[in-house]
Amino acid sequence: MSLVLTDPARLWFSAALLNWYPRHRRDLPWRHTRDPYAIWLSEVILQQTRVKQGLPYYLDFITSYPTVQDLAAAPQDEVLRHWQGLGYYSRARNMHHTAQQVVQEYGGQFPGSYQELLKLRGVGQYTAAAIASFAYDEQVAVLDGNVFRVLARVFGFTQDIAAPASRKVFQQLADTLIPAEQPAEFNQAIMEFGAIQCTPAKPDCLFCPLQQQCFAFQHGMVQELPVKSKAKAARTRYFHYLVLRHANTVYLRKRGPKDIWEGLYDFALHETESAELPAVAVVEVVESLGGRVATNRAEEPVAALRHVLSHQKVEAKFHAVWLQEPLPAATLAATGLAPYQAAEIEELPKSILITNYISNSGI
Ligand code: SF4
Repeated sequence: MSLVLTDPARLWFSAALLNWYPRHRRDLPWRHTRDPYAIWLSEVILQQTRVKQGLPYYLDFITSYPTVQDLAAAPQDEVLRHWQGLGYYSRARNMHHTAQQVVQEYGGQFPGSYQELLKLRGVGQYTAAAIASFAYDEQVAVLDGNVFRVLARVFGFTQDIAAPASRKVFQQLADTLIPAEQPAEFNQAIMEFGAIQCTPAKPDCLFCPLQQQCFAFQHGMVQELPVKSKAKAARTRYFHYLVLRHANTVYLRKRGPKDIWEGLYDFALHETESAELPAVAVVEVVESLGGRVATNRAEEPVAALRHVLSHQKVEAKFHAVWLQEPLPAATLAATGLAPYQAAEIEELPKSILITNYISNSGI
């Protein structure tokens, strides 16, 4: 399927959006800069969350690390700590690595074109197009979920937008629509239009300047478009966290690679196929770690929390266990567990799941 347009349709669409944008756009800090570093930061954060939730993170990052050199030089734990709560931590690690790449390979200057930006780690087509157009006025169209939705509705694209072939069609269409004179403004406009006017569930069709030409509106298909196949059901994992405590310390360890939450801190983890772990099994696991349970404290009530990630669902239970004595040194060496006091735990980067547990349990 092709959606390449005639000149009048192309001009009409661009003109309508560029007319709409200045009157409706939100005033956001990254829209007042042409600094590719600041734009890149904002885009990485906004891929993770909505504008309202992302704004404090952006302000925190740009204040803590005003230049790419500052970010590159920061310890990874500290960067993860600033990222805490945004989830999908590999993105934060990639971001940190990219900053180092920019410093080491590009002398601290972001590459100056779309094609060069694509060579940076973690910078895909969308981010490269955003930076190239917003910072350098390069005529390259961005494609994100908002843009897909707007184009699918306005131009009546009825095929699955998640299919790989669709991306090519949309890129072709968006490249036809983006004007040479105002590429940055156009990209901002179409994304903002999707974010606040042509929204997924309740688009404001009544007061929409594209209503007359909009295929979805004219054909009563606003709720049907865009067509998007459902992602595979997320698998459920059952995490049993053993919150091992002794005196005024709690044992945590840094998570290793190749699993969720890499580089973040959590408690001793016992993963099972089911949601339950009887008290007797808790004792067995502690003993397998060389620990001795202070029996009068082993039956503390457990707290259950659920955490949904993009591709898996974690059902976590926390078993608070007081130890009779500290864990042996061999266990610490083998597991990476180490005793921390409350103030130290506060400073460690942790997933939101662990953070929530800690604040609920009063550690
Ligand atoms: S008429 Fe409705 S569906 Fe069409 S572009 Fe406007 S808001 Fe979106």
